[in-house]
Amino acid sequence: MVAVTVVAVGGAGTSYAQSSLPGSSVGSEGTRCVVALDPGHNGADTDEFDPVTGVRMIDYPNELEDADALQVARAVESRLNLVGIGTVLLKSSVEEDVTYRERVDRAAGAGAFMGVSIHTTPGPNQSAIFPQREGGFRSGLGEAGTPHTVTFDNPRAAAESQRLSGVVAGARSLVEGSQVPVRDNSFNGREPLWEGNIPVISLIADTPWIYNEFGSATGGGAHGLTGAEKSRYIDGLSAGLIAAAATSPACTGIGS
Ligand SMILES: [Zn+2]
Repeated sequence: MVAVTVVAVGGAGTSYAQSSLPGSSVGSEGTRCVVALDPGHNGADTDEFDPVTGVRMIDYPNELEDADALQVARAVESRLNLVGIGTVLLKSSVEEDVTYRERVDRAAGAGAFMGVSIHTTPGPNQSAIFPQREGGFRSGLGEAGTPHTVTFDNPRAAAESQRLSGVVAGARSLVEGSQVPVRDNSFNGREPLWEGNIPVISLIADTPWIYNEFGSATGGGAHGLTGAEKSRYIDGLSAGLIAAAATSPACTGIGS
């Protein structure tokens, strides 16, 4: 039996459940058995430069994707909590205005061993997971108006992100019934977004981060998922994150 206690940390809506099992809550780097769930897109148009790295952080509401991502995140959260895995939800309502920097800070503040961005997109073959990689970058005009490139350089987080991506992609492929590849994204030709090959939130996170897309046959992104698609995404992601936790030092003893 697993006793789960929900503890409020940080600002509104940032809560996590922590397993009470001895030894189950602290990993080798001081992380906890907590998954940071990031429902994709922001409640308002936002465009500012990250005070830490200088990367341009653009985000925006994306119609039906906002509520879909939040619904999937909440359902995944309840499943993880059921087996004793803690969670912190990085955006607690469709309307909440929270930058990428605020999200990664909330994840780090909760001691999360991994961050998980949740998005949907048009196209049945567009399901994917984007990992952090050494050398992943975004490039554009910085706050001073001169060219600026921010490059991912955290070998430990990159290696762990790639390991976790493989675990989650395998489980998602099996449960969702279609292949979920681990690959890079491309942001080229998507002005005003900076060009490059890694999502901004993954680029600025020190926490190992995986960025999920679910490709829809009928809608996706702004056009929304069907109920059946949401169920597949919830089941696939939940299975993947339980497998990820079970193979992570921060989560010894889950499910016991
Ligand atoms: Zn999205």
